[in-house]
Amino acid sequence: MNLDWRVCSRARLSRDARFDGKFFIGVVGSGVYCRCICPAPTAKEKNVRYFSTAAAAAEAGFRPCLRCRPECSPGTPAWLGTSNTVSRALRLIGETGLGEGGMEELAERLGIGARHLRRLFIRHLGAPPSAVAQTRRLHFAKKLIDETRLPMSEIALASGFGCVRRFNAAIRKTYQRTPTQIRRLARRTTVQPENEYVFQLRFRPPYHWRGMLAFLEPRATPGVEAVDLNSYRRSISLNGHHGYFEASCDEQHDALAVRVQIGDPYSLYRIIERIRAMFDLNADWADIAENLEGDGELAARIHAEPGLRVPGSWDGFELTVRAILGQQITVKGATVLAGRIAQSFGQPFAAANGLTHLFPTPEVLADARLARVGLPEKRAETIRRLARTVCDGQISFEGITDSDVFLTRLSEIPGIGSWTAQYVAMRALGEPDAFPSGDLGLLRALGSRSSWELENRAEAWRPWRAYASMYLWSIAKEQTLRKSKLRVSDNNVAPELASQPVPMLDQPRGT
Ligand SMILES: [Zn+2]
Repeated sequence: MNLDWRVCSRARLSRDARFDGKFFIGVVGSGVYCRCICPAPTAKEKNVRYFSTAAAAAEAGFRPCLRCRPECSPGTPAWLGTSNTVSRALRLIGETGLGEGGMEELAERLGIGARHLRRLFIRHLGAPPSAVAQTRRLHFAKKLIDETRLPMSEIALASGFGCVRRFNAAIRKTYQRTPTQIRRLARRTTVQPENEYVFQLRFRPPYHWRGMLAFLEPRATPGVEAVDLNSYRRSISLNGHHGYFEASCDEQHDALAVRVQIGDPYSLYRIIERIRAMFDLNADWADIAENLEGDGELAARIHAEPGLRVPGSWDGFELTVRAILGQQITVKGATVLAGRIAQSFGQPFAAANGLTHLFPTPEVLADARLARVGLPEKRAETIRRLARTVCDGQISFEGITDSDVFLTRLSEIPGIGSWTAQYVAMRALGEPDAFPSGDLGLLRALGSRSSWELENRAEAWRPWRAYASMYLWSIAKEQTLRKSKLRVSDNNVAPELASQPVPMLDQPRGT
């Protein structure tokens, strides 16, 4: 990855938060590496080295700064644009955790040789995969030391070090302090209840949090998810442990404040990675906007709503079920059905705040009599087929290494067409270029006469067509609101209808 030092230099001198995590600054002499927003006095340009990742700075012998805490930066944008393999490898490391070794296995899953993977990492990230994983382990351990009261022995395991001895040695080598000394520096005063963890997850501003909630709110499955004025919360289940998390925006710190309640601290890394993906925290907003602003109509919307992200999902299976439910009906209708499915087939869950159930697992839905909750038989069968395909291991939502292969398999299920597949790619796989071009709301927004016409226009938006979709839905929503204000008496059209991904191409086959 080539860094433009002039851009880096400007961002560093102005402490520009939009560039936070896009590069790191090694300071010769002090031997530390910093984020561009570091409050420490700015070093002279000649004493500064720029690195595209924290791992590259660490490889060059720099230590993480204790003031700006590189472990809290929003991270390297997940989409590097130039190497799909590297993006997938990073996603796999994020999903499968931080266990030591396993680089051979990682390469195998990606279908390439370990030497080739190493070369790709060095070219794009400036460090080999093992160093990238080690930096992630260290950063996550540091975050747990600073932000939780977990005993060090548990942090050692939760951050993938395997044993306390190795954890102590790595922390001491990197930070030149013991874990206990670091915790004392953090001076955390609030005591959290047991099994509850509070994290600050940074993003690069701007972040349109209200836009995110406005999208999630009408789609929140009753009993499983809840959205209020400033926050989103939902029930979660991982490794047999049930819990929930709540996220709200801390605009002052360019961060989401996240509270996780779970009895298994070893899942924390995966939970945090999933939340980061769900709220699209790694997005490099400045880059995306610059690309999309070439289209006048998009530009106007981008200026009206800067920082809109692509909402991801907590669980790919659940999202796909939701997408199937949403075929050809309003969002409101799909949400009601999803709520009934959760109530009838999901495990009851004892937590306050309106959360009553876990979303049902593929095992339960594989044979569920879904017509009971009012689902058309064809759609019920599509959901059961999806669930069975997941149970058989033919498709898996975890550790997806090749989106194309995954989407081809998904589309083989009768009743899943290209709209559903693109919608799943956008929200479950985090594909920034996914584009459900047949969507009625997208077509309406720009007055396109066909998906072909829209696709042509969208060529210029690559590789960010998923973000363009969010803006087009926003345009369509406003158009509908305006129309419904003009015709107050017309109650036939639900205001959110036009903003919804209404499927055009997803009619179950054979009809
Ligand atoms: Zn610093």
